[in-house]
Amino acid sequence: MTTKETCKTRFDELLEQRGVSRRDFLKFCAGIAAMLGLSQAAVPRIAQALEGSVIGKDSGALAPAIWLEFASCTGCTESLASVDTPDLATIVLELISLNYAETLSAGAGHSLELAKEQTIELGGYLLFIEGALMQGWDGDALRIADERATDILKHAASKAVAIICAGSCAVDGGWQAAYPNPGGAIGVQLYLERAAANGELDYELPPIVNVPLCPSNPEHLVAILVDRLLLNRFPELTAENKPVLMFGQTIHDNCPRRGHFENGEFVRNFGSVEEAKNFCLYAVGCKGPQTRVNCPIVRWNRRGSWCVESGAPCAGCATADPTRVGFNWVEMNTPFLKHLRNINIGGLNINPAFIAYGVAGVVVLALVIHGFGMKATGRTKGGAPFEVERKWDKKHPDKALGPAVAGGVATEVAQAAEVAEETAPQVEAALEENINDTEEGGGN
Ligand code: SF4
Repeated sequence: MTTKETCKTRFDELLEQRGVSRRDFLKFCAGIAAMLGLSQAAVPRIAQALEGSVIGKDSGALAPAIWLEFASCTGCTESLASVDTPDLATIVLELISLNYAETLSAGAGHSLELAKEQTIELGGYLLFIEGALMQGWDGDALRIADERATDILKHAASKAVAIICAGSCAVDGGWQAAYPNPGGAIGVQLYLERAAANGELDYELPPIVNVPLCPSNPEHLVAILVDRLLLNRFPELTAENKPVLMFGQTIHDNCPRRGHFENGEFVRNFGSVEEAKNFCLYAVGCKGPQTRVNCPIVRWNRRGSWCVESGAPCAGCATADPTRVGFNWVEMNTPFLKHLRNINIGGLNINPAFIAYGVAGVVVLALVIHGFGMKATGRTKGGAPFEVERKWDKKHPDKALGPAVAGGVATEVAQAAEVAEETAPQVEAALEENINDTEEGGGN
C-alpha cells in the first residue's frame, strides 16, 4: 500500500470515527468552495488539500497555529471544537498543528508556554485570537502566565503570517467593551494599529482578518484555512477586514422570513399566533436588515439551524466594527428585543431621537419666526389689509362673497361691487330724473 493510500485510509477512518460519511465530507467541501467564491469544480481540490494535510501530519509539515484566548467566555473555542458535538469543522481543526490553545491543548503550564515560544521563534504560523484585549491598569487588567495580555499579543504577532480574529470580542472588544468598560477592553486590530502608530512595534503588522459573530462560526474559520492551504492567500476583505463573501450580504437578503416582512406580517409578541406562524421578527428587534453575514446560508450546528430560524431575532453580532473607535456591537444593538437606537448612514452613526428633537426644534423656530412675521405685517390685529371685510359686504351680509383673495376673479368681483356701490346714487338720481321727464312730457 502506498503512503497516499495509507493516509487516505487514515483520513477515512478519521471521518468514520466522527460519524461522517465521505458524501457529507464532499458536501462540506462544496460549502467551503461556495463561501470562498470558487466554482464547484474546485471541490475535489479542496478535498485533496484537506486530505493532503493529513499526509502532512505524518511528515510534521502541518501549518502551525497558535490560538490565544484573552477576555472571552470561551464560546468561540466551544463553537469551533466542542468535543461533545463534533462536527466537520472539528475534524479540520485536527489538520493544522495547533501548538498552543489554552482550552484545547493537552499540555499546560510551563511546557505549553514553551511550545508557544518555540512556535513564535520559528515563525510562519497563523495566529488566532479569541476575546478582547484589556488595556486597563496599564495592561494589568488581564495577565496570563504572569504576562500582560497586551505584551503577549505584541510578541505573538511579530512573526505570524496572519492574524485571524475569531469572534466579535477579538474584533471590537465585544461584551467586555460595552459601557462602562472599566478594564479598557478593545479589539485586536485597533490595539495593534495604535501600538504601531506609537512606535511600540519593531515589525510590520501582518495581515489581519476579522471574523466576527458571537460566537464565531467554525465554517467561516475553516473556509479561511482552506483558502490558505489551497491557494496560499486569504479571501478578499471588506474595509473592516472581514471576508467579503461571508460578510458581504445582509441576513435580511437571505432570510426565509423575508416574504412576511414584505407583506407586513410581523411577530409583535412572543407566544402569539404570529410567532407560531413564523412571521417576520423585525417588530421584536431583529437586526437582520443591517447585519452583514451569511448565517441563513451557513447556519450552525452542522447546518441544523440558526438564530432567526429557531425563533430568535438577529442580535446583530456580526456588526462588530474594528475601525470605529468607541463603537461596539453590543452598545450599538442593545436592547436586543427593541428597534435600533441608532441609525448608520454611511460612516455616520445617528440617534433617531436626536433627529426627532432637531426636526421639532426647526418646526418650533419656524412657528416663532412666522409669529413675528404676522405681528410685523399687522395680521395679528384683524389680519392683513386684503383680508379686511369690505364695506359692501358689511352692508349686504346676505350677498357677501366672503374675504377677498389677493388677485384672481374674487378680487375683480369685489372691486366691481365697490364701484357699483359708489356709483349707485348717481344711477338712482339719473333714473329718477328720467322718470320725471317722461311724466312731464306726456305721460298720459
Ligand atoms: Fe429581515 Fe429579521 Fe424579518 Fe428575517 S426576521 S425578514 S432578517 S427583519
